[in-house]
Amino acid sequence: MQHVELITTAILLGWVAVVIMLERFFPYRKGLPFFREGFWTDLVLYTFVQSFLLKIIIFDYLILPLDQRFEFSKLHLVTGWPVWVQVLFFLITHDFYIYWFHRWQHHNPVLWRTHEAHHSGKQVDWLAGSRSHAVEILINQTIEFAPIILLGADPVVVPIKALIDAVWGIYIHANIDVRSGRLQYFFNGPEMHLWHHADHKEVFHANFSTKFAFWDWLFGTAYLPGHKPLKWGLYYDFPKDYFLQHVFSVKRFDERGLRRRYPALRRYLLALPLLGRRVRSFVKPRRAAAPPVPAAANSSKAAV
Ligand SMILES: [Zn+2]
Ligand SMILES: [Zn+2]
Repeated sequence: MQHVELITTAILLGWVAVVIMLERFFPYRKGLPFFREGFWTDLVLYTFVQSFLLKIIIFDYLILPLDQRFEFSKLHLVTGWPVWVQVLFFLITHDFYIYWFHRWQHHNPVLWRTHEAHHSGKQVDWLAGSRSHAVEILINQTIEFAPIILLGADPVVVPIKALIDAVWGIYIHANIDVRSGRLQYFFNGPEMHLWHHADHKEVFHANFSTKFAFWDWLFGTAYLPGHKPLKWGLYYDFPKDYFLQHVFSVKRFDERGLRRRYPALRRYLLALPLLGRRVRSFVKPRRAAAPPVPAAANSSKAAV
């Protein structure tokens, strides 16, 4: 089992490297910086810390006690199926569920509070999909992994399914100019999902599919015009900090007012970008200083 997790992790890291390269060579939006706004929040807090903690809660404190109490997995309802059939079965059934739950989140004001964080990034890229409210992950991953364990699936189905989720999640958010033609009716990709993150009214209630685009085409929510969006993210102000994003989902507040009222919060919010800049300058090699430009050259440029 441990070697399966090693293999899936290696595949995931390889996929991240490929997607980052493709983003550089075939960008959907040109000029999107690698260390874009919210990069460290998404990588450190959402991808590593939140995922790690929620994984423990979901598996050890929700699914396992449920199985110990009712012993569903001992019925071995899907145990005899070939592993690939099990994976396909859970892939399609969960994707069908997530289409409808996602659609509900966009229509229900309370559920929207668990989903708006996912739409808050204005620079959507391979990492943007990781920004999901803790409650959203708690609901969706419990509903995703509980049936796999309770129906007695092969233990490798969990890491395989988790890998497919991560690979596809990275792909649909990637800033890659994919043109998949007729395949777009079947497999979801950046073409439709980058539109889903657009700050354009016409797509606020469209493109809910995650992996299989046919749900959108089947249920009349597909939106794929021949041009690209002009802006992304939410049309209203949304906090940039992980913790404030979660507080904001429970109680709306004015971030500027809070900063004024609580100096400690102001210091904390100022320290974060500073830390990000420090790490960025450490990671990025310093560019050599540009040679001085003669005054004459400068004035001729200004005249053009
Ligand atoms: Zn959405
Ligand atoms: Zn998304």
